[in-house]
Amino acid sequence: MIDLAIRGALVIDGTGAAGIVADVAVEGDRIVAIGGNIGVAREEVDAAGLTLAPGFIDAHTHDDRLILGGAEAMLCKLSQGVTTVIVGNCGISLSPVAFDSRPPAPLDLLGDARWWRFPSFAAYAAQLAEVPPAVNALALVGHMPIRIEAMGGDTGRAATSAEVGRMAARLAEALDQGGAGLSTGLWYAPGGGAERDELVALARCAAARNGLYVTHLRDEGNAVEAAVAEAIGIGVSGGLPIVISHHKCTAPENFGKSHATLAMIDACAAHHPIGLDVYPYCASSTVLRPEWVRPDIETVVSWSVPHPDRAGQSLAEIAAEWRVPLHEAAARLVPAGAVYFSMDEGEVRRIMAHRLTMIGSDGLPHDERPHPRLWGTFPRVLGHYARDLGLFPLETAVHKMTGLTAETFGISGRGIVAEGAYADLTLFDPARIIDRADFTAPTLLSAGVVATWVNGRLAYGEGQGVTGACAGRLLKRGS
Ligand SMILES: [Zn+2]
Repeated sequence: MIDLAIRGALVIDGTGAAGIVADVAVEGDRIVAIGGNIGVAREEVDAAGLTLAPGFIDAHTHDDRLILGGAEAMLCKLSQGVTTVIVGNCGISLSPVAFDSRPPAPLDLLGDARWWRFPSFAAYAAQLAEVPPAVNALALVGHMPIRIEAMGGDTGRAATSAEVGRMAARLAEALDQGGAGLSTGLWYAPGGGAERDELVALARCAAARNGLYVTHLRDEGNAVEAAVAEAIGIGVSGGLPIVISHHKCTAPENFGKSHATLAMIDACAAHHPIGLDVYPYCASSTVLRPEWVRPDIETVVSWSVPHPDRAGQSLAEIAAEWRVPLHEAAARLVPAGAVYFSMDEGEVRRIMAHRLTMIGSDGLPHDERPHPRLWGTFPRVLGHYARDLGLFPLETAVHKMTGLTAETFGISGRGIVAEGAYADLTLFDPARIIDRADFTAPTLLSAGVVATWVNGRLAYGEGQGVTGACAGRLLKRGS
């Protein structure tokens, strides 16, 4: 007798191929049979009329701390059908550097000094082994913590060769202990002082350990094309696969530039591995910086340390109430976060539809009033963009959140429904699936995800919530 049988669902296997109606058998943490005659199970699920897909892989998260918090903390992801998260993005990772005071923005997106208590990747991995996460995780090593450590906090300049050597040693150690690659956030001050030599040296260090190069570009606005060229140059010189994070072209004067950036990515892909991810919204979210605000881009506060009651309010309204310019209001609110309505819908769709584009939420789980992408990304792509708008077939949507992501990040045995694959599975109702979180109610549960299994264990049921199962694992790239 097998452990679990899911019967009669349309199985979309994650490869992009058309779905087939079949029964799926699970034994332990693996899928053991797919077909019409799989035998009797201890637990039977009648899934007629529903769709069964590989558990979704969130290609871009800041869940480094969230996955330490048990099953309930992962409701935002399990309720979307997500079973694996990529953490350590944008140059921000919770290891391998501990801080004894609040780290500089944007590292504080993960929390204040209390949370920065992992002086090595091994210490972070040990914590995840001791208290297993509710979803699987693949962890990148962020450039900013090791840069701040190596440069003694004096990061507004190019690093010396001795400092690059210190960063490389830390990176190598973290990758040897299980890190999946290097992430950078060159748009942010602690990372932005880095010049090409430093980045190529670190990329080569990661390449020697089978790592990836994952980057929040130096610029997503006026200089986005130069920034894509820089990322490609670093990845090609470094000799390792490239992932361009949350690709976008921000501010009205840059709308349309994705025609050029996607062509650059296509040209690179012809001879070098490269991928990109996107979230399905026209607004971005990150820390609030006075120098980034401008009157033609609506900005809403997502959290503020000195003014916590302002979360959810528009910066323009706060500035009017305080009778100060926008940048002055922002200066009074920091440390703070914000949502910036800076993107074009056509551009978002063009990037999302690109054959190499994965879906990543970029959700910020510790914000007082988070961008709705944290709770809604995956059902929004399936329900709004694939089903309602017909931007691409459902099989393509699933591929962008499963098989393509596993392939791009080198996660084996996941992102696919196949005999022998891990039983990370998402059962959803294709007619009902939709995001409900929006900018006014950003933490509403999505509809239509019926059940989510992680390594063969039921982790979430619709109407039931999280089951409490913590069956996730820290994954290693390429194994
Ligand atoms: Zn980023």
